[in-house]
Amino acid sequence: MLTVNKQQTDHRLEVELNGTIEENVNLDQLIGPFEGELIVKCRGITRINSVGVKTWMRYFQNIKAQGKIFKFIDCSHPIIEQLNMISNFACGGEVVSVLLPFSCLKCQSEFIASSKTSDLKANHLKIPAVKCEKPECAAQFDDDPEEYLYFLEE
Ligand SMILES: [Zn+2]
Repeated sequence: MLTVNKQQTDHRLEVELNGTIEENVNLDQLIGPFEGELIVKCRGITRINSVGVKTWMRYFQNIKAQGKIFKFIDCSHPIIEQLNMISNFACGGEVVSVLLPFSCLKCQSEFIASSKTSDLKANHLKIPAVKCEKPECAAQFDDDPEEYLYFLEE
């Protein structure tokens, strides 16, 4: 199930998507009409299946065809997997930022950090150094950096 929190301002509609994108998800209905840019916050998307992928692409290709501008913020792991597998998954929208999973070798905690894709590109897709909240911790990126950020390669 997918829930959507919406906030319309003068120039943009911000939507925060939470949950799973599967059968029965109707993005047209959930997001509805909007003015200006569409900002899609993806942090809370926990899963998208193959039907969800078709729904997603139909929706965003459709608003792209209408000349709408849309941006994806804080793309979660399931969304990054699709971006890596399907070359036009963003459908012409800008991927502004992604979530990066880390774990700490010392205190065993796991956490995520958000990173702007423009910063990652400026640093040749090098994963930024991130620390957990305790001093002298040793956070390590929890995935294969090359595979995880493959979609940002040029
Ligand atoms: Zn730690």
